[in-house]
This record gives sequence, C-alpha cells and structure tokens, in this order.
Amino acid sequence: MNAIETRGLTKRYKTKTAVDGIDLEVKEGELFALLGVNGAGKTTTVRMLTCLSEPTSGECSVCGNDCVSEQSEVKKLVGISPQDTAVAENLTVYENLKLVCGIYGYPKEESENKISKMFTLFRMDEVKNSRAKTLSGGWKRKLSIAMALISEPRVLFLDEPTLGLDVLARRELWSVVESLKGKITIILTTHHMEEAEHLADRIAIMLEGKIAAVGTLAELEKLSGKTGLEESFVEIAEKFGKSGKIGSVSERGEAE
Ligand code: ATP
Repeated sequence: MNAIETRGLTKRYKTKTAVDGIDLEVKEGELFALLGVNGAGKTTTVRMLTCLSEPTSGECSVCGNDCVSEQSEVKKLVGISPQDTAVAENLTVYENLKLVCGIYGYPKEESENKISKMFTLFRMDEVKNSRAKTLSGGWKRKLSIAMALISEPRVLFLDEPTLGLDVLARRELWSVVESLKGKITIILTTHHMEEAEHLADRIAIMLEGKIAAVGTLAELEKLSGKTGLEESFVEIAEKFGKSGKIGSVSERGEAE
C-alpha cells in the first residue's frame, strides 16, 4: 500500500490556485521531497494531506484513508513538524513533550517511556529543563520533530525543517532525519536543493502548484540532461515555464 496517494488534488483560493491537480504516489518507508520555490504550493499540499485544509477538488489519502471522509483515521497516522515550529515557548522541553502526551491521553508510565525514547533519539538531555523560548533554532526544530513523533505516526511531515538554521545546525538536523529513514515515511518540503539531494529517495519538483517532474536524483538528471539537482531543477523549470502547459517533463526531456 502507498503511504500517500493524491489524484487531481487541487486547492483554489479566491484569486489563486495554490495546488493544481497533482497526482502523487509515495511508498511506505520512502523519504520523499516536495521541492519548489516560495509559493509553489508545498505547504498547501501538506495541509491537505494532514487534514488542516480541505481540497477544492480531487482526492488525497494516507495509508489508504481518505483525508476528507476518514479524517480521524488520517490524524492518527500522521505527525507534522510545521514551518512555524509549534512549540509552547514558556514550557520546558520536557513539558512540551508531556503536553503532547496529555493531548493524546497516554497514561503516566507510557508518557514517560515515550518521552524518554525521544530524549535518547534526539540526545536532548542537556536541554531537558530549558524553556523552549531559550532554545537555539536547531534545538527548537528538534523538539518540534520529537513532538511530532510522540504518537508514533506512520507518516511524518517536515515542512522546511532547516529554514533559518545555520550550516552546522542544518547538518545536525539532517543526521536526525537520516536516522529516521526507512523506519517511517517522511514527506519533506524544502526549497534547498542540497537538502533534497542529500536526504530524499525521490523528489517531486513543484512549480506553480503543479508537479513538473518526479523521480530519483538520477532520474531527474536523465530527464533534464544535467548533472546535480540544482542544474536539473533549473532546466526542468525553464522547460516547464516555456511549455505553458500542465504536464510533466517526458523521458526525452521535453515538456509534454
Ligand atoms: P513557501 O516555500 O514560501 O512556504 P509553498 O510552496 O509552501 O511556499 P504555499 O504556502 O502552499 O507555497 O502557497 C502557494 C500559493 O498559495 C502562494 O501563492 C500563496 O500566497 C497562496 N496561498 C496560500 N495560502 C493561502 C490562503 N489561505 N489564501 C490565499 N492564498 C493562499
């Protein structure tokens, strides 16, 4: 079963089509990157897949559960670390994790076990009693991901996880994400080419609400005739822009 499926997924606002009929399939255990410039529609796609926003048309599902008609099932399956990290600033790291356990209604012992697992996974002991507002951007982001993982979701959404982080914090966060690879399906949205190149099994290039191309780095390179993700992205974006049509880049590297 696919972890994620979308068919003709569309979100229209009054004057803007943010997501324009996208078809995607993400396998369980994959680390899948949605790559695109600002305003490409990545966050809107994630919001529909996590039931925070309803599609205008089309369908999307998580592990076979429809994101509109089976919302309660979907919510049990997903964890999200949003762009504006959803941590409670005045609570400590421990208290933030405890708060999430409370929201899910876990009994005391189970909560402590889950929290302790997160402290081990993220090596967070040194900041256990620090208030979130005093944390560096990197620690805050790690806490946000730990909070998203408490419920042991099958699909983790990371929306621009390294936005605003310095190079060392970014590298450290990458190693955290790498340690999760294969254990859980991860949907990563980013406009960092290097990040997608470094972490993702497959990459979807999103432009103006549409999927222009999708594949492994090698497949995108073959499609574009270029080397490296950045060069491939630019080539695909140019071809997609020139064609002025909805479609994907074909095997021959021509916009369909
Ligand atoms: P970024 O990398 O900047 O986060 P993105 O790829 O995640 O960009 P979205 O945030 O999904 O892009 O936005 C896609 C488009 O939809 C943008 O043009 C944005 O301005 C528009 N948009 C998003 N949310 C709304 C809304 N609630 N009302 C109107 N337009 C919106």
